[in-house]
Amino acid sequence: MKYVYLALITLVILQSCQDASEQVDMIIHNATIYTAQAQDSIYTALAIRGDRIWNMGTNEEILNQKTAETKVIDANGRFVMPGFIEGHGHFSGLGSSLQELNFLKDTSWAAILHKIQSKVKDAEPGEWIYGRGWHQEKWHEQPENAYGTYPTHHTLSEISPDNPVMLIHASGHSLFANKLAMKQAGISKETGDPDGGHILKDAQNEPIGVFEERAMQGIKAAYQAHLSTLNEEELVAKWYTAIDLAQQECLKHGVTSFQDAGASKAELRRYVKLAEDNKMDIRLWSMIRHSYDEMKDDIATYRYIGTTHNHFTCAAIKTEVDGALGAHGAWLLEPYNDKPEFYGQNTTDIDEVKRIAKLAYDNEMQLCVHAIGDRANKEVLDIIQSYNTKKKGLRWRIEHAQHLNPGDIMRFKNTGALASMQGVHCTSDAPFVVKRLGMLRAKVGAYAWKALLQQGVTIINGTDVPVEELDPIKNFHATVTRTRIDNGMTFFVEQKLTREEALRSYTIAAAYGAFEEDIKGSLETGKLADIIMLDHNLLSCSDTEILETAVDLTIVGGQIKYERD
Ligand SMILES: [Zn+2]
Repeated sequence: MKYVYLALITLVILQSCQDASEQVDMIIHNATIYTAQAQDSIYTALAIRGDRIWNMGTNEEILNQKTAETKVIDANGRFVMPGFIEGHGHFSGLGSSLQELNFLKDTSWAAILHKIQSKVKDAEPGEWIYGRGWHQEKWHEQPENAYGTYPTHHTLSEISPDNPVMLIHASGHSLFANKLAMKQAGISKETGDPDGGHILKDAQNEPIGVFEERAMQGIKAAYQAHLSTLNEEELVAKWYTAIDLAQQECLKHGVTSFQDAGASKAELRRYVKLAEDNKMDIRLWSMIRHSYDEMKDDIATYRYIGTTHNHFTCAAIKTEVDGALGAHGAWLLEPYNDKPEFYGQNTTDIDEVKRIAKLAYDNEMQLCVHAIGDRANKEVLDIIQSYNTKKKGLRWRIEHAQHLNPGDIMRFKNTGALASMQGVHCTSDAPFVVKRLGMLRAKVGAYAWKALLQQGVTIINGTDVPVEELDPIKNFHATVTRTRIDNGMTFFVEQKLTREEALRSYTIAAAYGAFEEDIKGSLETGKLADIIMLDHNLLSCSDTEILETAVDLTIVGGQIKYERD
């Protein structure tokens, strides 16, 4: 009898547990689900409870759990997958690029001048005009008064005599300034090149307006000096608006997590507060970026792992050793093909990078180093190797890993270094890579996605927004086709990824790159319900259809954050 009671009580307890636990908040059914799990299983439905995936199964199994309170979404066969994880972008940069002039889509210098002209009309004298995204290699026509492929400042200076103008190159590694900006920065004929930078000058030794790599500092400092005269409160308010814009942009594009390649201490504090106040709609993972001296005493206080409902983490340090290929800033082992005897720029002293590596190691943070040229990659791999990173499971990352000496491809595997790359950089840069590197280096080591993957190296995909657009669909297309959208130009297609490899680089591999694969990156019971629904099947649609794909629904932590009209 005693046992019967016991069994009865147990049954009652079980029953009540089950009632509470079976309360699922949302069901998506009738879907084509890509899970990004290692062994892909076939599911057509999933249930969400709270911020997690409760379970997955057939339509019937999942719909059985429905209660009066459950929100039910019929996917009508659409493609459901884990939210995209942007693997390398600049979050506040994305936000401010949505506030300021943006030239990413402009195909001539004249079009850019036109935009500035209308901005000048509304500006107060002395107010700086700021924009970004120009790229001389993307222009269809040569600018008037051109110097090489670059325009000179004269027309711009005439258009804007009373407003200093600073226009950041699409790569972020050079800028264009007008006469007044140069004057305020104290730049003249006599100003020489700083270490790791170059001021372009004409035949009369006059600066033409283009400043590469470290030479940007003078103009940037003048701009900062101007900002410091502005109302601090207004600037901070503008920053928050930018962050809000960046979040909306992510949700619209199905990006549920964003790996932020370099935030300042002030920004990190604000992100923590935003996450604590439940104002972070996406999940942000930031790398702190400062000099060694600025970080050495208090780095531990900025190490922050997602206790804010997994909406904010900072457990990585960002630094860089070179610039970008377009501006001859990538640091190469052999000279440039189109700039004899020039090896590129080493923008941060290797000793400084070593100090930062030690800081990362001592504080259990990941080291993320920007390296584009083969020399830059070699130097960083040497540092990574010296820490025995593979054995210790440190997951240190090379950001971009763009041009590799074939011998170093193997070293990624041997050191356990992760390659954080940008599929769309390959197609964007395609018109000038062979010009800069020559055919052989371009073929064997430029954007060597497949070669790295075949070695078993983890590749994280991203866009480097605002260097490129945030759009994961375009980036996915570039990764799987290595074909330019505008003119069909291809770039060593043997290095393209399969659809599935590309999806993994944008989901589970990116999660792994942040030590977050246990909570996100794939659709699995118990993981965060960060889910998107698309109107095309990215595994089976045609290449052209990829570009027509729209994000219909973005769910973060079980909550619908974006729904297409
Ligand atoms: Zn970047």
